[in-house]
This record gives sequence, structure tokens and C-alpha cells, in this order.
Amino acid sequence: MSIRDSPLTDLQYFAVNIEHAEALAEEARRQGIKAQAITSLTAPKDREKFLGDYASGHLTFLASCGCLSVGFDAPHASVVLMCRPTKSLIVYLQQLGRVLRPSLGKKDALVLDFAGNVFAHGRVEDIKDIALDHGGVAPKGTGKPPIKLCPTSQKDRDGKVGCSALVPLFSSQCRHCGYLFGKQKATPTGQLQQATNNKAAIRQFFAVAKQQGKDKRWLYAKLHSLSNLTQSDFELYGTLRGYKKPKGWAYYQMQELKQRA
Ligand SMILES: [Zn+2]
Repeated sequence: MSIRDSPLTDLQYFAVNIEHAEALAEEARRQGIKAQAITSLTAPKDREKFLGDYASGHLTFLASCGCLSVGFDAPHASVVLMCRPTKSLIVYLQQLGRVLRPSLGKKDALVLDFAGNVFAHGRVEDIKDIALDHGGVAPKGTGKPPIKLCPTSQKDRDGKVGCSALVPLFSSQCRHCGYLFGKQKATPTGQLQQATNNKAAIRQFFAVAKQQGKDKRWLYAKLHSLSNLTQSDFELYGTLRGYKKPKGWAYYQMQELKQRA
């Protein structure tokens, strides 16, 4: 879905504070958009009027710093601009919930997150078991959201730069631009760099092997295609292969390597 497909008719701002909400509404009005702000300073009479106007379509922008829970009933709202960072999952879900309600003729909803909330709580598509109509029940076991950013400041193995999309944490490739994760070009600048690169490479070999059905001989050949192998590189390989004693195996591999050298 793109902004173009979504009628920018019913927008909701969530601002940081009263001044911010007022300023956002003011700016929207300057752009020729029928906008109002609802804050704790708004007179009850005005508040009622703004909410009524918004529900009937006479207002297209509503800015607020709270959650507009009391007396707010506008399932047609389809765009939310999050300008307020929140650590509370419930507040996040309430903000999202403003545009996720079904309404006749409504095809989609657009969430524009200017506050980085998606990094703290995850993408709306990935939040499971949300009962928004029942007050926004927090999903269980919430730690960090299982997402990562497709990097725009880093090149992958093929020299490709990412696209800044958010993708599931375990993606090996960005589904939007094809960026390959964990395959940075090896830049052998010193032993330490080499060591981390070897470990990353070994992990990558296993990922590729799993993906393309390569066997253990392929893996072993790949391992020995690396230079400056250390005992801990072998140990990682042994661990990933599922050996019972990867430490001991790594020790003997190192002995063999030294003899060959
Ligand atoms: Zn990407």
C-alpha cells in the first residue's frame, strides 16, 4: 500500500505535548487542511464539537497528545501520524487502534511513525493476539521486537546498499530490495577483523548449506577455504555441526593444520 492509494482524509496526530499538538494543527491549517487540536486545555464544548466534526468529516485532521479515548468514535479514521514516542505498549496499541477499526468503504490504514515506536514495539503486522476492541491486550513475552533495519550505511557481499525497510530479525535477505544480511565484504585489515570475518563466514556457510541442501563435505571444503583459521573457528564449526566435543575436535584440527603448514 502506498500513500497515494490511501485517501489522506482522516488523519490523526499524536503529539508530544499540548504545544506540540497545537503547533501540528496550526501547521496543517496553514496547508489548507481542516485541522484542530484536542488537549486537556480544550473546553469540553469545543472538544465535543471537534469530535463531532471529525466523525462527520467536517474536520480531516485531529491532533492530540493523549489517546482521545473518551467520546472518540471514528472508525473511518485511516491515517495515523505518531509524533509521540511511547514506552508503553498499551499507548502504542491505542494509537494504532485509532485507524485499525473496520468501516464501510475503508480498504486500508496507514501508520506514519515519526517517533520510532515501531522499533520499540514492533510492526503492526507482527503484533499478534491484539484485541484492540477490548482495550488493547499486551502480547505475551514482549521483549525486543523481532525486527531489524535493512541498512543504508552498509554494503552487502555484492556491494549492494540496503533500503531502510524493517524486516523480520531472522531474514537472511531483505524482501524489499534483496540486500543480503551478514554477508559484508571481507576487509582483511588485521588479525582481529579476520577472526570475526571467519566466524561470520562459517555461520554463513551453514545458512547457505541449509538453504541449498549442501552436504557436510561442501561445508568442510568451505571451512578450509578460509585463511588464518583459529581453534575457536574450528570450535564454532564443530558446534554448528553438532559434534559432541567441538573443543577437542577443534584442537586436533588445529594440530593437523599446523602439521600441514
Ligand atoms: Zn532492503
